[in-house]
Amino acid sequence: MGMDVYGKSGAYFRRNVWGWHPLADLVCRLAPELTAKCKDWSTNEGYGLGARDSKKLAQILRAKLADGTIADFVARRDARLTAMPDETCRYCNGTGRRGDPDATCNACDGAGKQRPSATWYRLSVADAEEFASFLESCGGFQIC
Ligand SMILES: [Zn+2]
Repeated sequence: MGMDVYGKSGAYFRRNVWGWHPLADLVCRLAPELTAKCKDWSTNEGYGLGARDSKKLAQILRAKLADGTIADFVARRDARLTAMPDETCRYCNGTGRRGDPDATCNACDGAGKQRPSATWYRLSVADAEEFASFLESCGGFQIC
């Protein structure tokens, strides 16, 4: 499953759910008043921003890319996620075995542990750059 972001100009931006949610979270933190005009960033029900607000959001992203705010946010986020300890595998309860008693758990490869689900959501500076480029040319957008 993914999020398709359609620009009125024909521009298109896409992320899977693991990539979209942290990016949406980032832009909402950086520009809370502006992004509040989009009713919901986390569903694909067609909410979005108009042309003027998309340009404004692009300008904010460009400024926060240029001054290092986004790079700093991503670095701190990565450090926090890396420091999170492994969790007991929820599929085998840490036994490393699943289903047939002799079968290795296919969720954790028999380790009995998994990285926390928060670490599955990815965000990079390049994601923000790509979204800024989309916003500059989209002419307004809808998240579908
Ligand atoms: Zn397991």
